This record gives sequence, C-alpha cells and structure tokens, in this order.
Amino acid sequence: MRLSQMLFVTLREDPAEAEIPSHKLLLRAGYIRRIGSGIYAYLPLMWRVLKKVSQIVREEMDATGAQECLLPQLQPADLWRESGRWDTYTQAEGIMFSLTDRRDTELGLGPTHEEVITTIAKDMIRSYRQLPLHLYQIQTKFRDEIRPRFGLMRGREFIMKDGYSFHTSEESLKKTYQDMDRAYSNMLRRSGLEFRAVDADSGAIGGSGSQEFMVLAEAGEDEVLYTDDGQYAANVEKAVSMPADAENSSFATFEKRETPGTDTIDKLCKFLKCSSTQVVKNVLYQAVYDSGITVLVLVSIRGDQDVNQVKLLNELTKLAPNYQAKTILFLTVPDAEAQRKWTAKSLPLGYMAPDVADDYIAGSKEVNSKFLRLVDRTAVDLTNFVTGSNESGYHVVGANWNKEFPLPATVVGVRTAKKGDRAMHNPEQTLQSARGIEVGHIFQLGTKYSEAMGATYTNEQGEEMPFIMGCYGVGVSRLAQSAVEQSYDKDGIIWPVAIAPYHAIISIPNISDAQQVEVAEKLYAQLNQSGVETLLDDRDERAGVKFKDADLIGIPYRIVTGRSLKTGKVEIVERATHKSHEILIEEVNATLKQWIEAALK
Ligand code: ATP
Ligand code: MG
Repeated sequence: MRLSQMLFVTLREDPAEAEIPSHKLLLRAGYIRRIGSGIYAYLPLMWRVLKKVSQIVREEMDATGAQECLLPQLQPADLWRESGRWDTYTQAEGIMFSLTDRRDTELGLGPTHEEVITTIAKDMIRSYRQLPLHLYQIQTKFRDEIRPRFGLMRGREFIMKDGYSFHTSEESLKKTYQDMDRAYSNMLRRSGLEFRAVDADSGAIGGSGSQEFMVLAEAGEDEVLYTDDGQYAANVEKAVSMPADAENSSFATFEKRETPGTDTIDKLCKFLKCSSTQVVKNVLYQAVYDSGITVLVLVSIRGDQDVNQVKLLNELTKLAPNYQAKTILFLTVPDAEAQRKWTAKSLPLGYMAPDVADDYIAGSKEVNSKFLRLVDRTAVDLTNFVTGSNESGYHVVGANWNKEFPLPATVVGVRTAKKGDRAMHNPEQTLQSARGIEVGHIFQLGTKYSEAMGATYTNEQGEEMPFIMGCYGVGVSRLAQSAVEQSYDKDGIIWPVAIAPYHAIISIPNISDAQQVEVAEKLYAQLNQSGVETLLDDRDERAGVKFKDADLIGIPYRIVTGRSLKTGKVEIVERATHKSHEILIEEVNATLKQWIEAALK
C-alpha cells in the first residue's frame, strides 16, 4: 500500500479523550476513530492487526479440532427466558441491548452466545456418538457497559472469539479445557504478549474451574495476586490466602463503653487502643433477588478484613431458594436513599452489633422482615471481642459468641485476600500484587445451561442426559490494544512482528530524487511479492515527518532509500531498538524474510 493513496492521518497531540497510553497511541496513529461512547471504527491499519490476531486465534482453535461457525447477533428473548437470563441481562446487569421488532417480538443483541449454541445442540445433537463437539466463532459482541473506556479495552461493541464445547463426561470436558488452556497460552505467546493464567471466579455454579488470561500492564482493570514460587496466581475476586493472626484481646470482661465519634474501625481502635483484629465489624448489604424480594444482609467479619463482594454474591446466590428465587439481580451497600425504603427507624450506622434487631426493618411483601446474618470465618474464633452496641456513640468490649451474641448459623468465607497475606499452599510465600488486563477466560460450565434449557442427548444406556458444557472467550480487539499497552516508547507503538499491520515501511527521503524513487519502487514490488508486507511512504513530505510517522504507527522495519544508495545499500532501522543496518539492495528481501521468520518463532 502507498501512503499517498491511503487514509493516513496522524495527530501530533494526545487526544483529550484518551487516558491510557495504548488508547492515545491508537488514536494518534490513525488506527481507530471514536464514533460514540464505547463505539469505534477500526481503520485500515487496525483492521489488518485485528485480522492477524483473529488468524492466530483461528489457527490455535482449529489445531484443537474446534470448528468455526458464525451465530446470529440478533437473539430472540425467548431463548434467554428459557435459560433464565433475560431479566438479569436486560434489567439487573442491564448489559444486554434489547429491542422490540415491528411484530412486537423482543430481541437482544448478543453479548455472549450460550443460549443460541445450547438451542442448536438441543436440536442437532441426539446421541453420545456425536460428542464431544466444540464450535467457535469470531464476531462482534454488544454490551451496554456502564463505563465504556480506554478505547477498545472496554467497548460497547467489540470483537470476541467465543467457543462452546459439549461433552458426555467431566473427563471429556477437562480434556478440552486443558486443550484450551494450551491454545490460549499459544495465542498470547504468538501475539508477543507477556501474560499470566490465573484462577478466576466462576460464579455460584461451584465446583467447576475457570481461568483468566491476564496481560500484565499497569493500566489493567483487574488485580492479580500471585506468589513468587509460581505455584499460585488468582484474580483478587477469587484469591484465597491466610489472614494475619489475630492479636489476643486486651479486654477480659464484657462491658459497654462510651466511644464517641468512632464510626470507623480506625477511629475505634485508636480510641480503645486495641488492634483491629479484636473487633467484629458488621457490614450491611442489600440484595435484590429475582423473585422481587429484597433481603438485608449483615456480614460480621474481623475488623482488619474487607468483604469481597464477588464471594458474597456467590454465597447469597446459593441461598436464593430460601427467597423463592434463582438468582440475585442487585447486591449493593444501601445508601441513605435505599435505606429509607425499608427502615422502620434509623439504623445505628457505624455502631451496629451482630444482633441488631429485626424491627429496624419495615417488612413487606417485597422486603424480607429479618436480617440475613452471616459470619465470616475470620470472626468466628474471636473471643472477648469489641463490637457495636446498637447505640450511636457506644461499643461493647469483651464480648463472646453464644454468650452476649448468638453466632450466626451461616458461616461463610467472604474475606478479600490481599497483597502481603500468607499463601495457602505455603505460608512462607506471601502474595504479590500486579495489574492485569483480562484478555481471555476459559470456563467449565457444567450443566447450567443444558439443564435450564432442557438440552439433552441419549447416552449409551439409552438415558436422556443433559450436555456437560464448557465455554471459552478471547477479546480479540482488547488483545490487540493490550499489545500496544505492553509495547510502546516515546515515539509511538512498537508492534510485535506477528500482529503488526505491515512488516516493513519504505520511506523515500526525497521523492524528487529519481534514484531514491526507483530503488524504493523496486523493493516495494519485490518485498510484497515475496510475502514481506510492505508500505511505501511516497508522500511529498520531509524525511523527518516520514520517519516520525513510521515510528508512531510502529512498523517493525523501516527501509530508507537515502544516502547509502551510493554504495548500493539501503538503511534498515529496527523499530523496537532503533538499531540501524546498512544492507545491500539485493540482499534486503532475504534479510527481512530471515528477521521476520526469527521474530515469529
Ligand atoms: P470484564 O470482566 O472485563 O468485563 P467479562 O468477564 O465480562 O470481562 P467475558 O464474558 O469472559 O468477559 O468475555 C470474554 C472476553 O471478552 C474477555 O476476557 C475480554 O477479553 C473480552 N471483553 C469482555 N468485555 C469486553 C468489552 N466491553 N470490550 C472489549 N473486550 C471485552
Ligand atoms: Mg470474564
């Protein structure tokens, strides 16, 4: 491609709308253009990158025996009602764009495809002989993200590879899951990324495994906790660890103390001169179940610990049947306005005890009249602890479970693991923390969707069995931008050779020099013909501008037909290192082919 004929517009200044380096660079270098919130046009250079990433993904998927297909983006609401996800996706999470057609039929724009694929399997797979089966697609997904940001990192329209596998047994699922683990590692390695596979939350399904593939970068929205021995890595949403030991209580007898202005743990501990590990704090949450019932949840946890909302959500989802529900629509810390809807009298916030009375709740058909009381493991073994008194400005000290306060019947593990904690597998290892960008997620689904949608096959014994399923996603557009986030310098993008839009760019310093143009044209034709994807900067611009642009767009090799022509050579500059080589014109092709091949290994 000739730059003179290309839609090629670069910006000198950082665009105001962009916060992180990769987003700024992709905009400045003319790869993407913002059309609306979370909506981007992939311009020609970006599209070439995306096609390269897709091709790597495709090759690795095909190598495992998975088959490519293309599923509809318009999805009937009825399918989502069968799986029970329509309300969660359109109302609670609100992540699915939905619409009504002219016949008054409701439809959603696909954020993911479990429903569509399960209905296909239900129709087409009759017998165990047709299993296992793994279908995948590469396609634009739609999600009405609350906070679209960072360009392609969190778009409302983005490209995903999603695959779904069907099995007769857990072993068969595990085999495909392992194949995917390997395939994903290959994809990321081949794309030139530094990454880590981590344990991930798999929701309330339980039992089944799930792993995320994190590209390590400061701009990552996820926190990864890991140990230096390489034995453990997990998303903080899922991570487990050993909490610090609790200090012995300095209070021997139970009494109520006046503790004015101590509505936080910090203030309280300063006032009482005690350790936060001797405190039982009681945190209030509000859960709305899909049966329409609101439940007020009181979590008692050790004062130095924080509740992990993902773990809490999973625990509360397990309790859904108690509230005639299947799932949770919302889980929040109720603010003053939310409290007004159900409080019978004002709560002693900051001073609540584990036994705060149920008559604070104005129960109704929609509001459960009793607190759901949960206790985290960190609080169970505390003795002579400090906690609220249910009266503003007062706490109690020297309290004990089943003496002053009944121990809540439901014990849960909902604490947040954090950097510095001792690791479970080896207490000598402490957890380290890093930021990560989730580019892939592999997931053992089990029978969640097949059971909900009645998708079964006949096994060898002639029985109807629900499919055992797995699903596997890669954010193709997010992955492409992550590569930039990991690889750039002050001059611009440094694409890994494997996913660069072009391998080489020929910059003609002076287009009115006939010899420069002639050599450049010859090389341009020769290189492209032999598979070295090459751009020709034949614009009538100063050499400095051309070199700057070549650096900005990040093409791995820049060929300059300048002064060295006198000795029958051209200059080749490596983008990543700025290293310059003088190469004989007739050896340029072979040299570049060799370098590219070496870079793709
Ligand atoms: P996140 O936690 O970042 O919202 P997710 O867990 O909802 O992602 P999945 O449903 O697992 O994402 O989707 C598979 C992959 O699709 C993710 O690993 C990610 O790479 C990509 N992805 C998800 N949401 C977006 C988005 N809004 N923009 C770009 N890529 C996305
Ligand atoms: Mg995910």
